Amino acid sequence: VPGSFKIGRIAGIPVELHWSLGFAALLVGGNLAVGLGPAFALAGLLLLFGSVLAHEFAHALVARRYGVGTQRITLWLLGGVAQLRSEPTTPRAAGFIAAAGPLASLAVAAASVGAAVATAGLDGPSGLVSVFAWSTAINALLAVFNLLPGAPLDGGRILAAVRWGRHGDRFRADTEAGTAGQVVGAIVVMVGVWLILQGYGGIAIAVTGLFIYMSAVAEKRAAPLRRSLEGVRVGDLTWFGVARARADTDAETMLWQRGRLGGAQVVAVEQPDGSLAGLVEEQKLWSVPEEQRRSVRLASLAVPFSRYAQASPDEPLSQVLARLHPLSPWVTVWRGDTLVGVITPEALKRRLEHAAHTG
Ligand SMILES: [Zn+2]
Repeated sequence: VPGSFKIGRIAGIPVELHWSLGFAALLVGGNLAVGLGPAFALAGLLLLFGSVLAHEFAHALVARRYGVGTQRITLWLLGGVAQLRSEPTTPRAAGFIAAAGPLASLAVAAASVGAAVATAGLDGPSGLVSVFAWSTAINALLAVFNLLPGAPLDGGRILAAVRWGRHGDRFRADTEAGTAGQVVGAIVVMVGVWLILQGYGGIAIAVTGLFIYMSAVAEKRAAPLRRSLEGVRVGDLTWFGVARARADTDAETMLWQRGRLGGAQVVAVEQPDGSLAGLVEEQKLWSVPEEQRRSVRLASLAVPFSRYAQASPDEPLSQVLARLHPLSPWVTVWRGDTLVGVITPEALKRRLEHAAHTG
C-alpha cells in the first residue's frame, strides 16, 4: 500500500502503518490528553492500536483456519485492513472470516469493562478507569459500526456470504452487498450532515459515510470483471524468465543487448551481493538522453519492487487488480523471495479488454 511502512510481523503476517494513522493518533491522543493528561492519553492510544490490531488479526486467523493466507495487515486513518491472499471458497468461510473481526471487538469491549470495574474496585487511578471505559466504548462502537450490513464493511461481507449461500452466485451476492453498502454509506453521510447542522462534530462521520459509499460503488463495478476473470491465475499471464543485468551496466550497453529483454521488455537489476535492486523498463533506457547513456548505470534507473504490485503465480488474477500501481501497472511475480517473472501492463490490458467483452 503506497504511503505505508512495515513495522514487523505478528504470527507471520506483516503489519504496516499508513501515514494517515499519525493524523488519527494526533487527533484522538490530543482529545484524550485534554481530559486525562498525557500519560493516560498514551495508554489510551496504545489500547486503541491494540484493539484495531485484534480486530484485524481475528479476520486473518480465522481466514488461516479456512486455508486463506493474509498478505498484510495495514492500519490507517479509519481503522485496519487485512488483505487476504485469495478469496474464501465457501459462503461459510466467507461469513465466519467477516464475523471474526466484530466478535473480537466485542470481546475486547467486554474485557475493557472488566478491567474498568476491577480497577475501580481496587481503588486504582481514576484516569486508568476512564481509559478502560473509553476503550469499552470505542470497541463496542467498532463492532457495531462494522456490522452495518453493507460492503465494504464486515456486515456487508456477512450479508454477501448469506446471500451467496442462499442463491449460490457469489458475484451476484457481492453486487447485492455493494448496493446495500451504497444505502448504508448514504445514511451515514446523512447522519453526519445532520449532526453538523445540530452543531455537533459530524465531519468524521460524514467523511466515513462518503468513503463507504464510494467503496461500495467501486466493488459493484468490479464484480462483473471479477466474474469474467474467475479461474484466471497470475501465472497464466506471467512472462517467466526476466533478464538480469548487473547494477553497474550502463544504459548504452543494455540497449545494445536489448534482445535479451524478451517479450517483457524489462530487466531485473542485480546488485553485487546477488540481490535484486528493482526493474528497468526498456522504455526508460531510451528516455535517457543519448549523450548520457554511457555514464548512466542501471543502478540509478532501477525502480524498487515496493513500487510494483507483487503476486504469486497461483494467486487469482482478480485479487491482484486492487494492488496495481495506477501509474505503473506491472505485476512482479514471486515464488517465496525469488522473482520468477512479470505481468506486463500490455498483457494485463489485453486480458482485461477480453474479459470486458466476454463478461
Ligand atoms: Zn473487520
